[in-house]
Amino acid sequence: MALQRKPKGATRLENSAGLSIDKTRLLWGALSLLILVLLSQLFVGSPGKVVDDSQSVFPDPLLTATTQISWDAVTEGQIQAPDKAPLQWNDVTVRRGDNLSLIFNRAGFSDRDVFEVTSNDSKRALRKIFPGQLIGFAANEEHQLVAVRHIESSLKQTVYSKIDDGFLSEVIVREPQVRERTVALTIESSLFLAGDRADLSANIIMELASILGGVIDFALDPRKGDDIIILFEEHFLDGEKISDGNILATSYTTSRRAVDAYRYTDSQNVTGYYDGEGVSMRKAFLKAPLDFTRVSSSFNPNRLHPIYKTKRPHRGTDYAAPRGTPVYAAGDGRVVEAGYNRSNGNYLFIQHGEGFKTHYLHLNKKRVARGDRVKQGQVIGTVGSTGAATGPHLHYEFLVNGVHRNPRTVHKILPKAKSLPESEIALFKDAIRQPVQRLVSMKSRGTMMGAE
Ligand SMILES: [Zn+2]
Repeated sequence: MALQRKPKGATRLENSAGLSIDKTRLLWGALSLLILVLLSQLFVGSPGKVVDDSQSVFPDPLLTATTQISWDAVTEGQIQAPDKAPLQWNDVTVRRGDNLSLIFNRAGFSDRDVFEVTSNDSKRALRKIFPGQLIGFAANEEHQLVAVRHIESSLKQTVYSKIDDGFLSEVIVREPQVRERTVALTIESSLFLAGDRADLSANIIMELASILGGVIDFALDPRKGDDIIILFEEHFLDGEKISDGNILATSYTTSRRAVDAYRYTDSQNVTGYYDGEGVSMRKAFLKAPLDFTRVSSSFNPNRLHPIYKTKRPHRGTDYAAPRGTPVYAAGDGRVVEAGYNRSNGNYLFIQHGEGFKTHYLHLNKKRVARGDRVKQGQVIGTVGSTGAATGPHLHYEFLVNGVHRNPRTVHKILPKAKSLPESEIALFKDAIRQPVQRLVSMKSRGTMMGAE
């Protein structure tokens, strides 16, 4: 499953009807112009001269161009400037392998125009263009370029307007509307299918898994009937959803336990996820040290050893996953061994603080070397079947003071995760009051539905 967040379509701006922000901008622009005119009148005295002065402060082409562009940016010609016709934009889509010269030429402009637009570009937006974005051109009757716009996303564009000696750039940003949504899921076969049924994006599911990755092994733990509730933000622009926002709260309930997590920004402005008592969800170790989305669930670790044909004491956890699946460092630490032998294949040992060590065997590729420092979640290698392994899988071991422990249950004896300091608890409880309510009411609804 791909994790990247793709940039959202750049074309939505064109159909846009939400004017509030840019109306405000324009209003402020007009107001400050008025103030300037009044001020210059105060200081200069002669009305005849005032007009000239204001014109030298605001060269006419700049003023009309930026004003119209501000409107045009969101209305695409729906609203006319009082005296002049709006700029006619010709928008060109950036293609793979494009550069500014190609794009300008395609729109009928020259390399000299490219040079003029970009030569004193403080915003530098045109230095970074990506396929799918739009570059718009507006010309006067003599076919001279008067403005260029770079529509980077539905939320941001940079406009370059002709002034006496070159182009002046201005960034126009729109704020999305944020709405909250609560979704309840029950796992039938997999977390992703449950998410899909509830119309959740893969991003939200991945986010959920990363929030709870220290307490739930998403490769091996999820069972049919597990209940999940997610309260999260969605971003809307002109009534249309453009992206997911943050997860504000979530709960994961199995037949044996329930885990709640709440997003909280503390007074040091650090954001994290905590349980209802203020204990951090960020643990010293990940429960599953690999990309869980690729682990096959039909794998039975309690089989006879495929090579030795005996039931050898199995001192770790096996995750069957396709060759090449990323393997993560379970926690921060240092690589103390990176080698190869006939039974382990390619293997890595990581030391975490004083008493803890994790082992990763049968790797296809190692991505770190002995002595390297690693961070939790960092890719240290990929799943393979090197050494005594019949198929690609990660064999993962956890040692406490040199003794093998079951990685699936070792977390119970690990030191407790950090809690919010006493001074934050009251603030925290206050901040999560509403999310707690939302989860509780969703849970009770779920129970009622289940009772039918
Ligand atoms: Zn194994």
